[in-house]
Amino acid sequence: MRDENCIFCKIANGEIPAATLYEGEEFRVILDLGPASRGHALILPKNHFVDLLDLDDRVSSQVLALAAKVGAAMKKSLGCAGFNLVQNNGEAAGQTVFHFHMHVIPRYEDGPSMVSWEPGTCSGEELSELAECIKKELK
Ligand code: 5GP
Ligand code: ZN
Repeated sequence: MRDENCIFCKIANGEIPAATLYEGEEFRVILDLGPASRGHALILPKNHFVDLLDLDDRVSSQVLALAAKVGAAMKKSLGCAGFNLVQNNGEAAGQTVFHFHMHVIPRYEDGPSMVSWEPGTCSGEELSELAECIKKELK
């Protein structure tokens, strides 16, 4: 369940050092080397999963609760006003390391705007067509 060529496998399992906030049986939580904000953390499973679609049920059932704990600790320790969870799947979505990870990004009052987009437009008809299109594959 580990990939010997994967840097996050090595970090998650302690072969390469990283500033660690938490280590448990399934996960290590580290600070990002290129932080979007002060305290930006990454939740890494110890086993290798490429992305969300590859994740097993055990890890996926735990990751959100762990993200909540990390976010709560950031609010207490760093005084951030909130935090974003970001999880990229696929190169087109900005994934650069192909070992599942969840970003926990502290957000500060008056901090820069990030993780945002310009709202587009979509007609009611287009929304219905899209919903039908996706629904067919949601089982
Ligand atoms: P992605 O774009 O794949 O969602 O995010 C990858 C993240 O991993 C980036 O924010 C990048 O700064 C971080 N990163 C890449 N290599 C390392 C590393 O060796 N150590 C740490 N701590 N973070 C890394
Ligand atoms: Zn890996």
